[in-house]
Amino acid sequence: MYFKEIPGKKDLKHALTHAVEKGRIPHAQILLAKEGYGGLPMALAYASYIMCENKSNQDSCGECSHCRKSHKRIHPDIHFSFPVVKLGDKKREITTSDDYLPKWRSIIETSPFMSKSDWLDHIGADSRQANINVKECNDIMQKLNMMSYESDKKILIMWLPEFLGNEGNRLLKLIEEPTDNTYIILVTENQEHILQTILSRCQLVKVPAFTSTEISEFLIDQQEIEPSKANQMANLSEGNLHLALHLSNNETNDYSELLIQWLRVAYKSDPLEINKWVEKLVSLPKEEQKNFLDYGLHFFRQFNFRVQTGSNEVNLTPQEIDLVSKMSNIITIKKSESIAQLINDGTEYISRNANMKIVLFADTIAIGEIMRTKS
Ligand SMILES: [Zn+2]
Repeated sequence: MYFKEIPGKKDLKHALTHAVEKGRIPHAQILLAKEGYGGLPMALAYASYIMCENKSNQDSCGECSHCRKSHKRIHPDIHFSFPVVKLGDKKREITTSDDYLPKWRSIIETSPFMSKSDWLDHIGADSRQANINVKECNDIMQKLNMMSYESDKKILIMWLPEFLGNEGNRLLKLIEEPTDNTYIILVTENQEHILQTILSRCQLVKVPAFTSTEISEFLIDQQEIEPSKANQMANLSEGNLHLALHLSNNETNDYSELLIQWLRVAYKSDPLEINKWVEKLVSLPKEEQKNFLDYGLHFFRQFNFRVQTGSNEVNLTPQEIDLVSKMSNIITIKKSESIAQLINDGTEYISRNANMKIVLFADTIAIGEIMRTKS
């Protein structure tokens, strides 16, 4: 991955490359990037840049012996760690990221802006809870304590350290007293799920959302999407390039129609109807289900903005604005905030592989209660 393959984010790229040029790379860093903000691609481009022997002030060269390996994710001194599940007949306790490296390389090749659920689908996790286990932590300690192979530096990229749980404590010593020329790059979507002891020992680097312009230009240039459609997808995706790419690759479902049905069913609160609606939603591909919830969240955030400010500068289509004006009679800002919170929590549960049906059913009941409460 090159920095130039990640749209925008000039300041962050400059900060990262500048630190390398000055020889001041922090030993342990956490890149904090929400889904689709490009945290992993940024870490990959950064690792290639650190290793490159012929770098410009903006990017790795792509031609030196290090680049030839790092860009294929086969550099022996760049180690990867990420959440996995049991592989085939192998016991979970002895399964680690190394067992999944071919899959890891192939998905980054095609979808560097992937989400957690893309990855879990790719490795066939189904409903099994993925994590980063004890053996993995021990292996990391061993790898980073060994001599490097081809470079004078060693790098660990750990994607989603929030899947470490308490095992993270095993890595404390490594993070606190790293060996020379060893760099640890953690890429997280949610710092609240990382042990405080780890957080406090790492330099935090916030990866900002993509701007709408960055996303729409990317869609136009890379995906050959026509400009008006690209703008609409960029608005809907709220800085999440993964979502924008997904929308551009799929016949977009009519999420607003689906949302109206949801609110109607929630308001009536008939268990049979709720069940029917839930079944309909879970029959969609997993990524579509998630996109629908993302859309719901986007809608209620924009709803609040519109109701609070009366502004026309909302990222909503004319039909959606019409829906907002109708709904504002029964849904107050406070109610809408509560609903957004529910959807947000629901998305989080589902990304951690909770049962979609149960989460949706519970959310629908709760949304109905919120809607019927006298304000
Ligand atoms: Zn190079």
